[in-house]
Amino acid sequence: AKADGRNSVRLFAPSMERDVLHRRELERELRRALDEGELTVFYQPQFAASGEAVVGFEALVRWNHPTMGLISPGEFIPIAEQTGLVTELDMWVLRQACAQAKGWGNTKIAVNLSPVDFRMRDLAVQIGRILEEEGFPPERLEIEITENLLFGNHQEAFASLASLRAMGMRIALDDFGSGYSSLGYIRRFRVDTIKIDRSFTQNIGRSDDAAAIIDCVVRLARALAINVTAEGVETREQLRYLQSVGCNHVQGFLLASPVPLSSVDRYLELARRP
Ligand code: C2E
Ligand code: CA
Ligand code: CA
Ligand code: CA
Repeated sequence: AKADGRNSVRLFAPSMERDVLHRRELERELRRALDEGELTVFYQPQFAASGEAVVGFEALVRWNHPTMGLISPGEFIPIAEQTGLVTELDMWVLRQACAQAKGWGNTKIAVNLSPVDFRMRDLAVQIGRILEEEGFPPERLEIEITENLLFGNHQEAFASLASLRAMGMRIALDDFGSGYSSLGYIRRFRVDTIKIDRSFTQNIGRSDDAAAIIDCVVRLARALAINVTAEGVETREQLRYLQSVGCNHVQGFLLASPVPLSSVDRYLELARRP
């Protein structure tokens, strides 16, 4: 089931990335995009390790630009983070995902938050309010954060995360192994899910080290009763290895690309399977 998730254009050539004028322009454009409804949410299914049952969806923002087409978040999230616009964007994505996914049975919805969002003291209160207004059960929401947020031991961020958990939401540690990792954070702050960064998944079969690290992370997570999702699964060989070490969930192009709302239905059928 290949879909439109990969068809996004690069906004500018690498050589232009340092162009300040271009950045300013992009910033202004992004503001406009948010106001004029050019942003949209795609959903990537997450599967049980068997690769058959859908257990949830990750919400991924896209910019549907009138002339440039679909722009991927890797292009504009960093700029949104620099300008602080990212928090408004993330709250918009959250609200949209809650409204759209409300009727999707018991499937879990995962939403990405930027470390910048946690600078807002009442983040948890705002998120709680959005769920209430949209009538979305907190138990079905998983908040994805990156390790960089936990790095540095920001008390405010810990407090917000604790409030979100107290409301019933789950917390996933995204891109695990790619940043200032560590196992220390998992111990200090109980996360519900670890998402193994796709750089590890993609080295299965190429690097014994990557395979050994995955094996180790899965064992550790199991011992702590934490879920493990492997990201970026693109080949059968990777899937087989992940199954063999007991990874719970898998996500990647082999199983499904991120799809627009209009294509979610066929995956919801897989979610209703026993
Ligand atoms: P992420 O959270 O790690 O999301 C996974 C990314 O990997 C997505 O890229 C997805 O399309 C891509 N992907 C999924 N399966 C595969 C695979 O098998 N192979 C490969 N090579 N890639 C795969 P996307 O949608 O372009 O998003 C990029 C990043 O932008 C995300 O990485 C996340 O950090 C950020 N992002 C996306 N949506 C949001 C959002 O609403 N808010 C915030 N703050 N960040 C977002
Ligand atoms: Ca993510
Ligand atoms: Ca990730
Ligand atoms: Ca990421």
